[in-house]
Amino acid sequence: EASSKPESVVLGENIPAPPMVYISGEEMTHYASQLFVEQWIKPYFDTSAWEVFDLSCKSRDETDDKVLHDAVAAGARIGAIFKEPTITPSALQVKEMGLSKAFGSPNGAMRRGWNGITISRDTIHIKGVELGYKNQVLFERHAVGGEYGAGWDQVGEGTLLTTYLPKDGSAPFVVDKRDLTDENNVVVVYHNPYDNVRELAHLFFQRCLDAKVTPYVVTKKTVFKWQEGFWATMKEVFDADYKKAFEMEGLLERCGGDLTHLISDAATMQLIRWTDGGFGMAAHNYDGDMLTDQIAQVHRSPGFITSNLVGKSEDGNLIKEFEASHGTVSDLWHDHLAGKETSLNPLGLVEAMIGAMQHAAALDVERNPEDVSKVVVQKKVMNFTLTLREAMHNTFRYGQGTRDMSGPSGFTTEDFISKVAWRLQR
Ligand code: NAD
Repeated sequence: EASSKPESVVLGENIPAPPMVYISGEEMTHYASQLFVEQWIKPYFDTSAWEVFDLSCKSRDETDDKVLHDAVAAGARIGAIFKEPTITPSALQVKEMGLSKAFGSPNGAMRRGWNGITISRDTIHIKGVELGYKNQVLFERHAVGGEYGAGWDQVGEGTLLTTYLPKDGSAPFVVDKRDLTDENNVVVVYHNPYDNVRELAHLFFQRCLDAKVTPYVVTKKTVFKWQEGFWATMKEVFDADYKKAFEMEGLLERCGGDLTHLISDAATMQLIRWTDGGFGMAAHNYDGDMLTDQIAQVHRSPGFITSNLVGKSEDGNLIKEFEASHGTVSDLWHDHLAGKETSLNPLGLVEAMIGAMQHAAALDVERNPEDVSKVVVQKKVMNFTLTLREAMHNTFRYGQGTRDMSGPSGFTTEDFISKVAWRLQR
């Protein structure tokens, strides 16, 4: 069997891992993350510069959510964040866990607190292993606005007015007036902040160009007329800065020679038909949430999708938060608690760890231009993370993958992690 020894990283070397924020969550993904940090990272790195925040429901409750504010502040300061999946408690979970209130999604607070531009979600591929899509699929999901930030209420009969008060003091006007004739209505107000769509466009088209895939923009603008602005900005940036480069790479041939808009319902169908991959999609927040879950299913498992939030700090540097695209995998956690075997696919989590460690190292070099030792550490982080990826992929290639991939003969959560640890030491 091939081994994957890190070139210039040795066991017990205690390389100072560059500062990053580590957000810990709960259930199965917390358990598995603890195992791989202990077995894969700590034998090579001194992680004392990591700032750790526990965003389990219990910890949020005990600190009256101060821990979330502290985590967001630390993320904005440091700029590189690894996040385990967390629980946004349902009404039932509030009761079961004895929480003082139903805490909101920490993800929403982070997207707002780090001026989130996009959540990039891409398929993970292992050479020689067939998954759902043959070539890469990239996704850019607008990180803010839409249904997630909605204000709403349940009301009876009457009239609903939505009034806009301009900041410059000019005359207010009514955006919408509607008469409610039912006795029972839910009314909802939300907005899409569009200032950062230009930045999203640049990130998306550049990523598609680097990966050599064809970009598409997805909205429901035929019916939801207010979404026209999203498409218009994407098209404007594309025509001005990217069209030529995509033409030269021959990447517009599959879409009729120009940037193509897809209605979201058509996109859901194409995601199932276009299993050759080789394309990218950019969409609004909620559409992006749904479409990326569909990509995860076509691509065999949510464990084979990355999820990176890209935002901006006050000084204009990119804040990057890396997480898996899936949740806390409660069903496997309950099996684990019941003493049953589990098989968690950690690839999405580990790609997040790799991304966060690499971004942390790059920022540390940028912030300390005089300090050559930071460059040495960055090289070691690159070596180590590439070796780690190879060790995981080899484990899958040799038929020792997790059960979502390898079927019932696949490894358990614990055996997969030990096998990769063993391979790292060879
Ligand atoms: P989930 O993504 O945890 O699981 C959905 C299904 O996919 C389950 O059957 C699970 O076993 C399977 N699955 C997911 N990832 C897997 C992996 N890596 N390996 C093997 N199988 C995998 O979603 P859920 O069950 O709907 O939610 C569980 C909890 O996660 C909820 O409390 C929810 O609030 C939370 N959640 C958190 C985030 C986040 O923090 N980003 C995102 C989604 C859900």
